[in-house]
Amino acid sequence: MKKKADVIIIGGGIIGLSIAYHLAQKKAGRILLFEKGQLGEGSTSRCVGGIRTQFSTEINILFSLISLQTFEHFKEEFGIDPEFRRIGYLFLATTEKEMEIFRENVKLQRKFNIPVEFIGPEEIKKRWPYLRSDDLLGATYCSWDGYAGPNEVLSGFIQGARRMGVEIHEGEEVKEIIIRKGKIQAIRTEKEEIETPIVVNAGGPFASLVGQMANLKIPVKPLRRQVFVTSPFHLTGEIVPLTIDFHRGWYFRQEVDGFLLSGPLDQSPSFHTHIDYEAMVEASENAIYRVPALEGARIARGWAGLYEISPDHHAILGRVPELEGFILANGFSGHGFQHSPAVGKVISELIVDGRSSTIDISPLSIERFEKGNLILEPMTAFKE
Ligand SMILES: Cc1cc2nc3c(=O)[nH]c(=O)nc-3n(C[C@H](O)[C@H](O)[C@H](O)COP(=O)(O)OP(=O)(O)OC[C@H]3O[C@@H](n4cnc5c(N)ncnc54)[C@H](O)[C@@H]3O)c2cc1C
Repeated sequence: MKKKADVIIIGGGIIGLSIAYHLAQKKAGRILLFEKGQLGEGSTSRCVGGIRTQFSTEINILFSLISLQTFEHFKEEFGIDPEFRRIGYLFLATTEKEMEIFRENVKLQRKFNIPVEFIGPEEIKKRWPYLRSDDLLGATYCSWDGYAGPNEVLSGFIQGARRMGVEIHEGEEVKEIIIRKGKIQAIRTEKEEIETPIVVNAGGPFASLVGQMANLKIPVKPLRRQVFVTSPFHLTGEIVPLTIDFHRGWYFRQEVDGFLLSGPLDQSPSFHTHIDYEAMVEASENAIYRVPALEGARIARGWAGLYEISPDHHAILGRVPELEGFILANGFSGHGFQHSPAVGKVISELIVDGRSSTIDISPLSIERFEKGNLILEPMTAFKE
């Protein structure tokens, strides 16, 4: 007899596992998840864990606020400390245009009762004296923001999903999606064929390749981002917020006893995940420009991972009109970790209840690209 499932999830990163966990919670039947390598080995293990409410579109703010509830109560729900540290995010503006964007952002964020502060240059100098501030026009800061451990959060979802009976297949690549009369029929791996009415594409930067198996074009590009970490270095006794030099597209934050420095984001898509010497030089130059004392720090290590960029830098969620039973959870454009709890909720609601009640995800449908309903986000320059 052929093996059968109610839902099959392709991809064992933070998104696939959150969806698996939330589906199991909603008793969605027999749920199978396939990961071609090891769980988390894609973008999730390369992620730096940033969590923020300071977004400039309503839909992203909603995903942040719903996800925050999970991060705040993660230990009670999953029995694992997510290492959530609320160090705050500080966005720095050096041009009038950026100030304009920041003013609009603050207006929007305050509508959601987010306690974001708009700060002038004198106060920046007082509160963060190690920052070069002669070229700064202003900043926004929110104490709700911070970071958590991607491995810890992933482990919580894995253990929760397993406890509730999700069958997780590691080291098993989905090679084929079988379609009959415009409907999902089954998937095939090297070992087996499994019948299912529903397949979730949670392929992260590989989303378009997963889409190809279903003869669909999923507009997600993999773009490499490099990051570097210094050796232990003392800058201040105070908490250092995750600080973004918006103009340079550069950020830094404390990482254990040293500092994590962002490197460049590639302009052309590729699946490369090596690091370059030139990128390290660029990260160091940006660091020394904004935080002159970091001239005394030494880069100890670095790594690179892939962002999964959609055309308007917003997620692509939900059904596709051409293929019944195919569900997308793609294109998080560098924010998939922090939005993973809410994504798990809305996708499980869509599958089990027929619609997502936590957040209306219709604006994130893949159809928006054809209809020209792209979601404009003035903050695209910044990616964690
Ligand atoms: C350097 C860097 C820093 C980042 N920092 C942040 C941050 O601060 N905050 C934030 O929110 N986000 C951040 N991100 C983005 C975040 O990592 C991603 O948005 C998130 O991990 C996406 O999760 P995912 O599960 O969709 O993808 P992935 O973790 O890549 O998982 C997809 C999985 O699918 C598997 N797969 C693909 N095809 C198949 C197949 N055919 N069969 C079986 N398995 C398959 C892959 O092997 C992979 O493991 C960062 C990313 C990078 C690279």
